[in-house]
Amino acid sequence: MLTAVVGISWGDEGKGRMVDLLSEGYDVICRYQGGNNAGHTVINEKGKFILNLLPSGILRDGVTNVMGAGMVIDIEHLFYEIRALCEKGVSVTPENLKISDKAFICLPYHKSQDILEEERLADKKYGSTRRGIAPVYGDKYMKKGLRTGDLLDIDTLKAKLAGIVEWKNITLKGYSEKADFDGLLAWLIEYGASVIPHVTDTTEYLSSAVKSGRDILFEAQLGALRDIDYGIYPYTTSSQTLAAYAPIGAGIPGAKLDKVVGVIKAYSSCVGEGPFTAEMHGDEAVALREAGSEYGAATGRPRRVGRFDIPASRYGIKMQGADELALTKLDVLSYMDEIPVCVAYEVDGVKTDKFPTGDRLMRARPVIEYLEGFKTDVSKCRKESDLPGAAVKYIKFIEAAVDCPVKYVSVGAGRDDYLIMGELE
Ligand code: GDP
Ligand code: MG
Repeated sequence: MLTAVVGISWGDEGKGRMVDLLSEGYDVICRYQGGNNAGHTVINEKGKFILNLLPSGILRDGVTNVMGAGMVIDIEHLFYEIRALCEKGVSVTPENLKISDKAFICLPYHKSQDILEEERLADKKYGSTRRGIAPVYGDKYMKKGLRTGDLLDIDTLKAKLAGIVEWKNITLKGYSEKADFDGLLAWLIEYGASVIPHVTDTTEYLSSAVKSGRDILFEAQLGALRDIDYGIYPYTTSSQTLAAYAPIGAGIPGAKLDKVVGVIKAYSSCVGEGPFTAEMHGDEAVALREAGSEYGAATGRPRRVGRFDIPASRYGIKMQGADELALTKLDVLSYMDEIPVCVAYEVDGVKTDKFPTGDRLMRARPVIEYLEGFKTDVSKCRKESDLPGAAVKYIKFIEAAVDCPVKYVSVGAGRDDYLIMGELE
């Protein structure tokens, strides 16, 4: 069974908590794109964790975690992320963590370039996490990247680094900072040492896992609307967030997914910049942000919040090819007398249920309807029949509007705080 757990919206839908839950039924968990711009929160019997680079299966004993070829890895960040887990008693070994030899290394200058560019853009900034992700993917496509496999042989590493530093310093003309061969080599050797034992040909590894019938779960980094091609460009991430890329980014491009689980919040949130039609403002936004503790897991930035967005969700579900949904954070809505839903957009005076692209999206206004609030604490509900009628109505309304079945509903951040729709006993 090959399953992808992906975000339907702008990210932070609760993918980490769903991967942590679903990893019980899988042998291998793979991150396939992105880097430490992701922030996946997991709360289980081992504690509370925010994972940036490591797959959320790292907390589950007996599963193997893979960081795929499509990822970009800040090896210094990875060193500290692994160390923080070890300090909490989670073991990370070459057996339970395999890093693709084809994953790209995010170097210190990528981070500097990312910060400088966001500052240059000023009020037109993209909303980057400033962790170097765009520059490292940019360099990858310029064929000027270093990969983790390059760490394995010091002479190869030196030769490749020398060529890249020469090129980088040409592109950095006008910047005060320069790429420094000796400093970069020392950094690569220092932090590479903890990466080297994990470096694996993950294509080989995953191919034989598939052949022997092992079950693989792929974990996306962000949501569909942040996909570099199909998202709200340029307010996107610099990689692919879609399920279709899961086998490619993990290392088995020829494999076909059996199932796509789309994770979606019971309302909307969006960290960073870009069009966000269903956005709430003022006191209404403050109340939802506080109720949902909406602050970025990777950056701590207050997240923009909004109503559940039907046109955006339908689009995200289509782009992901989602077979079923996990609707998260239903408990957060329990304070509302009425639950606002963005049911359509109005663009240039015309109502539409389609998600517009480009400038039309910038001009879109929300069409809002109100559903009955459930005004009850649902955090202890563990089956559909425990939910108040208005909550079931809300879920069924969403299901019909987005045309995709809701299978899981989460009602709290802990691993077991969820129910499966249809389970009445
Ligand atoms: P991800 O990036 O998609 O993995 O999501 P994040 O971890 O960035 O954001 C989701 C946040 O919601 C985290 O703080 C989770 O602990 C929290 N969370 C997840 N599911 C629930 C839920 O059902 N109820 C509540 N109240 N919090 C949840
Ligand atoms: Mg997140």
